[in-house]
Amino acid sequence: MADAPSVVPEAHEHETYQPPEKMFAKHPSKPHIANLEEYQKLYKESITEPNKFWGRTARELLTWTRDFETVSAGSLADGDVKWFVEGQLNACYNAVDRHAYKDPNRVAIIYEADEVNDGRNVTYGELLRDVSKVAWVLKQAGIKKGDTVAIYMPMIPEAVVAILACVRIGAVHSVVFAGFSADALRDRVLDAKSRFVITSDEGKRGGKFIGTKKIVDDALKQCPDVSHVLVYRRTGADINMVPGRDLWWHEEVEKWPSYIAPEPMNSEDPLFLLYTSGSTGKPKGVMHTTAGYLLGAALTGKYVFDIHEGDRYFCGGDVGWITGHTYVVYSPLLLGVSTVVFEGTPAYPNFSRYWDIIEKHNITQFYVAPTALRLLKRAGDEHVRGNFKYLRTLGSVGEPIAAEVWKWYYEIVGKESAHVVDTYWQTETGSNVITPLAGITPMKPGSASLPFFGIEPAIIDPVSGEELHGNNVEGVLAFKQSWPSIARTVYGSHKRYLDTYLHVYKGYYFTGDGAARDHEGFYWIRGRVDDVVNVSGHRLSTAEIEAALIEHHSVAEAAVVGVSDELTGQAVNAFVALKDGNDANDALRKELVLQVRKSIGPFAAPKAVFIIGDLPKTRSGKIMRRILRKVLAGEEDQLGDVSTLSDPSVVDKIIATVHEAR
Ligand code: ATP
Ligand code: MG
Repeated sequence: MADAPSVVPEAHEHETYQPPEKMFAKHPSKPHIANLEEYQKLYKESITEPNKFWGRTARELLTWTRDFETVSAGSLADGDVKWFVEGQLNACYNAVDRHAYKDPNRVAIIYEADEVNDGRNVTYGELLRDVSKVAWVLKQAGIKKGDTVAIYMPMIPEAVVAILACVRIGAVHSVVFAGFSADALRDRVLDAKSRFVITSDEGKRGGKFIGTKKIVDDALKQCPDVSHVLVYRRTGADINMVPGRDLWWHEEVEKWPSYIAPEPMNSEDPLFLLYTSGSTGKPKGVMHTTAGYLLGAALTGKYVFDIHEGDRYFCGGDVGWITGHTYVVYSPLLLGVSTVVFEGTPAYPNFSRYWDIIEKHNITQFYVAPTALRLLKRAGDEHVRGNFKYLRTLGSVGEPIAAEVWKWYYEIVGKESAHVVDTYWQTETGSNVITPLAGITPMKPGSASLPFFGIEPAIIDPVSGEELHGNNVEGVLAFKQSWPSIARTVYGSHKRYLDTYLHVYKGYYFTGDGAARDHEGFYWIRGRVDDVVNVSGHRLSTAEIEAALIEHHSVAEAAVVGVSDELTGQAVNAFVALKDGNDANDALRKELVLQVRKSIGPFAAPKAVFIIGDLPKTRSGKIMRRILRKVLAGEEDQLGDVSTLSDPSVVDKIIATVHEAR
């Protein structure tokens, strides 16, 4: 590590963008803090006097039924972190009731259905009523405080209602992405010990119907502890209802009053379980607790996205993932603004769908993953239509965003009048941890920029385990002190939690990602540590080589992995998917190798370039590089857990391409 040259920061040094002036012209007032100096001042307080900072913001942003005395307790080293110890509050009260009392007619949910004109709005008053009724249904079915409820729902308002109904009575929700197979659902229901399942007859996405209830039926064949399934009628399909077990949502809610009192919960009571994307291995059932998680969601919404009263917030994430939890549901609702629940896909009925939604609902903040941006960039600029008169913040999450894609987002989508926030975080961090603040932080394309309040990043040398101080360093990313929304455990396996995050470098929270801190203290996420390629002692980031490949006009997506090499230890191998209308040939492969030599250096040049139709991705859209590594190593029979792969058929095609090339 020590003798390897730092390859990133200089390459991007010259490109710094200030928050665009035109963004302020669209602003209803001004950002919550004045400028970068005020960020620095507050940041310093959050690190040196965390109890003061977090105690104040917790009382400011959340409504408590009992105040706390102890702001934080426990430590990362011991894995027993606690926040706001004596406090009591209810998540649903904070997300719904307090806004419903103030302004019942304010829109809470903008439901944008799969078909363009099928949506509707749900006000805070209506949400309170709907949630209360479903909470009654759960309660009458025997669900108590602390029980787990599985939610397997399409992106419809009722998914949000189901989530909030659980937390209203103190039940723990475990949302399973409704694209998962029956086996994957079964595993998650069993692992979480869910006793109740909430689903719909069918889902509808991109014009296609998905048999959610049928998948639940298959999954539950091996889940004897599930007593009931509550079924929302979405499409009216003819489905099988198991007598005594299955309940129709519309029939049940008729039976109950439109109000039920929220259950006061202790700060550290579990709020939800959520299984990680499974990019690196078997998914982990990450557990978040109540107060700390809610505070992280609210505070990042306020400062990262610059949410103000009256805003209309659109996060394209699915509630099946952490982005959907924190930024479709909790963050906007805690702040009392309108949140879009989008049932469809960015490609249906055409590639303008996101842009049409932004225009139609006067969206103020939009948040999406690079995988969707790559798809839309590939589709062509002509699809981006609309004036986006209110759009101030454009967020990116989930993977490193290549500079080319970043610029497209800023220029073509944002028209240089919205702030791009590249937000780095994880299921386990609960909310954004390294990120620009909209309207405040200068932007560098491809950098997640600076730490959020309370986050003290450390760059650690992976070989020696020593922290690297100062700027211009590169290594693995860890955090030095706990923050309120950090996950408390992996459900059923505290040991796995300790081993994965807290005992790798004692006293630190280990992210599993590589990162560089540049000469100005900005952070560049380099991808997962497992994905780093080591060529002749140079530790190369897959993210960076991929970004170089994407700069080539014919490349739509790229994934880079290391394969063992007698001479250099490891060699770079690249997989590339082309934009429509480009053909795979040797001349192009050569050009791509040249492209990497030119933008990074000869040592990073791929030894082999495989041109394939599609990359292997998780259902949340992330590239699964471990599959590519296994295929190249000839270990196709040892691919590991592939249950979260979105299209398993791509694997065979990749195997064929690799065999053909050899
Ligand atoms: P698993 O933990 O099961 O392998 P996962 O890590 O993909 O799955 P998530 O918690 O959804 O599950 O994703 C977090 C990871 O996503 C981070 O550790 C990082 O690798 C990547 N990531 C998220 N946001 C960014 C970002 N802005 N820039 C770079 N990488 C990001
Ligand atoms: Mg992870």
